Amino acid sequence: MAGNEAQKIAAGKVVGIYYTLKNAAGEVLDTNRKGGRPLAYLHGAGNLLPGLENALAGKEKNDALAIELAPSEGYGERDPGAVREVPRSSFPAGATIEEGTVFTGRDEQGNTTSVRIAAVQGDVVTVDHNHPLAGETLFFDVTIAGVRDATAEEQAHGHPHGPGGHGGHGGHGGHGEHGRHAH
Ligand SMILES: [Zn+2]
Repeated sequence: MAGNEAQKIAAGKVVGIYYTLKNAAGEVLDTNRKGGRPLAYLHGAGNLLPGLENALAGKEKNDALAIELAPSEGYGERDPGAVREVPRSSFPAGATIEEGTVFTGRDEQGNTTSVRIAAVQGDVVTVDHNHPLAGETLFFDVTIAGVRDATAEEQAHGHPHGPGGHGGHGGHGGHGEHGRHAH
């Protein structure tokens, strides 16, 4: 980097962002602006939704932008086929089975999956495997807190390290959370 030129967001940059995510009704679904650190991600490594990365490309520190993502650019359309009825006995004994309960697990690839209880009728439980934000148009307000070059190790891992990254490398034990980032 020459001089103090602002770094623009591009593949291979670690970017810190503050963001607020709202739905079409204006409800805040997620934000890290309330006293938290910026979220760090490695641009070009698939850490964020592609539509979000595309909108951030070429921006620099202190830029603020509003990004609207259609469901197809976000978490996809709702799939009616992902809603199924299963017997209550398929849940662990003692589990709380009621509308709105969310169970998380891992799929065959090791990615985190979640299933939400959509309805309960007697011994029949309706489960919804759709992402909770499937079918939603997403409205992001993003402020760029910083842009820097990724280290070789970060590039190799495909995600940032250090503050705002995935929480320090406790001997790489923490990487279990990153299903795709096998070490
Ligand atoms: Zn790593």
